[in-house]
Amino acid sequence: MKKKITMSLFWLVQTSSLLVLFVPFSLGMVGLWAASHFVRAVGLTLTFHRYFAHRAFKMGRVTQFIWSLIGTAAMQKGPLWWAGHHVTHHKFADRDGDPHSPIISGFYHAHLGWFLNDVRHNKVADINPVVRDFGKYWELRLLDQHYWAPPLLLALGTYLYGGMQWLAWGFLLPTMTLAHATFAINTVNHLYGSRRFETVDESRNNIVTAIFAAGEGWHNNHHRYQRAARNGFYWWEFDPTWYVIKAMSLVGLAWDLQAVPARIYQEAAVRTEARVDLAESQALQTDAAPLREPV
Ligand SMILES: [Zn+2]
Ligand SMILES: [Zn+2]
Repeated sequence: MKKKITMSLFWLVQTSSLLVLFVPFSLGMVGLWAASHFVRAVGLTLTFHRYFAHRAFKMGRVTQFIWSLIGTAAMQKGPLWWAGHHVTHHKFADRDGDPHSPIISGFYHAHLGWFLNDVRHNKVADINPVVRDFGKYWELRLLDQHYWAPPLLLALGTYLYGGMQWLAWGFLLPTMTLAHATFAINTVNHLYGSRRFETVDESRNNIVTAIFAAGEGWHNNHHRYQRAARNGFYWWEFDPTWYVIKAMSLVGLAWDLQAVPARIYQEAAVRTEARVDLAESQALQTDAAPLREPV
């Protein structure tokens, strides 16, 4: 029954995001979409992903709860459920046991099917490190059990404040775009993009998903070194979640930020050099190829 309600609500939000076509348009509404999409995206990536699943930094109990509340408003189930499954993803990445690998189970199942319709993933085991270590906070357990409440409050809040226009631009459309931005990390980032590191999985770096998923698109970097607080390993790799973590650390709200070790940067440099050498030798071979006279 709960599964049917979750599926119905998910598809209701997805399809009713088209309401933006039938309410008045303004640039301010685009700003509202961006705020609702990106603030919740950072809630998910900063808290569910880098903090609960990877322990990339530390923060206090109140900050941890506020960010978890924002992340849960994304309508992607609870923080312990989300992060618990993500740990399993890294453990089995693109092999049997990975809850969402497009290589193993196909694109649809990896993008949506596992999240909506796969009873094997309804619960996270108590021995999962996320449940084991963060399940001790009663407020997180409460949020995890009642994950439907924050998105419902956001939907109600936007509607009561600004009617259908605010509901469509402030909740429906950004909830739809954020769902696909997050799920694209599981699918697009295991299929399309560049591979800086030779990881055992199929993870890739992709600038488009990096933009829409607040820095998570540097997924090959992340699979190479999961513990780092930053997924963009260089200043030119756009990673707004990292900027927020860094800003929090400057005012004392986050500490013990995990850096990318020097050996990983050295490995990246060696791989880049090898790619340049290969490209140069291929160019030389092309130049040296004998030209054929047209007949
Ligand atoms: Zn992955
Ligand atoms: Zn991860």
